[in-house]
Amino acid sequence: LRDVDAFEKKFQVGEGTYGSVFVARDRSNNNVVALKRINTEQEENGFPITALREVKILKALKHPNIVQLQEIVCSKEQGNAFPKNVFMVFEYLEYDLTGILETPEIRISQDHIKSWSQQLLNGVHYMHTNKVIHRDLKASNILINRKGELKIADWGLARSWNSEMNRLTNKVITLWYRPPELLLGCIEYTPKIDMWSVGCIIAEMFRRSAFLKGRNEANQLELIFKVCGTPNKVDWPELEQQCRLWKKFAPGPTDPVYPNRLAESLRANLPHPKWMTDEAVKLIGKLMEENPNKRWSAEQALDADYFFENPIVKQAKDLNMKF
Ligand code: ADP
Repeated sequence: LRDVDAFEKKFQVGEGTYGSVFVARDRSNNNVVALKRINTEQEENGFPITALREVKILKALKHPNIVQLQEIVCSKEQGNAFPKNVFMVFEYLEYDLTGILETPEIRISQDHIKSWSQQLLNGVHYMHTNKVIHRDLKASNILINRKGELKIADWGLARSWNSEMNRLTNKVITLWYRPPELLLGCIEYTPKIDMWSVGCIIAEMFRRSAFLKGRNEANQLELIFKVCGTPNKVDWPELEQQCRLWKKFAPGPTDPVYPNRLAESLRANLPHPKWMTDEAVKLIGKLMEENPNKRWSAEQALDADYFFENPIVKQAKDLNMKF
């Protein structure tokens, strides 16, 4: 392992779940990188399992839309520019999607939304093909560089799955991006959970603000039911069998049963209503399908007419990134 001395610290960007993220320059080639510190001190059993998982998964994945782990470096001594620790070295990306969407001065067009949706789906398709589920897709984990390239970051919650693997924790995915089956206590493990999050992220790009912002788990489910309709056994026959909490949230005889109003909700309060075409609504609708068995896979989503209608999807390099 190289020593972290090989890098010159520029500034700190973020505070991650297990340590800070620094922007630094590789002294050997002047490349700018992001150094993610793995905090091993507060850990009882030494190296954190989440970091181990992240490293293992990232080492196996190599794709233009997945953030590239370049190497692992360490600092043995206290007192230099970096705290004593182990660091993951990533290529540096200037923006994250939340930052772009929250900054009104940054003007993005239909071209950006369509290209980033396709790049996101390309990355997700690749990881699902390689039997990895990200489990924490959200706008702040989507990084974008000055070349318009989008890369999926923060693999700390990712898991690889195989058909025998079931009964995993359902306490994954940040609330606003969490699919109904997880909120309803489903413990089955399928890549479709990521696809709901992708739908939420694409909707967020059109709205420039997160789509379904629940205050807590019960409120998040209520928002989903109000927008996508109260689930029922006709549209989702396996509902009761897959979701052990369905009984708790199923409407009683006097409770309202909501119809699906997703198209209307998606079109309400948009900065550019014309961009949300019927095909865009269809794509988001198929990703925000409550029944995971019916929800589109990344492969199906990449085939959506939205990507083949005008304006035709652009390559990253053809996006205007001077904003
Ligand atoms: P955690 O898993 O602890 O949430 P992340 O991997 O999400 O940590 O990193 C935390 C923050 O650091 C991110 O939200 C992002 O702003 C920044 N960051 C992480 N990786 C990079 C990178 N490769 N380039 C630029 N910024 C990054």
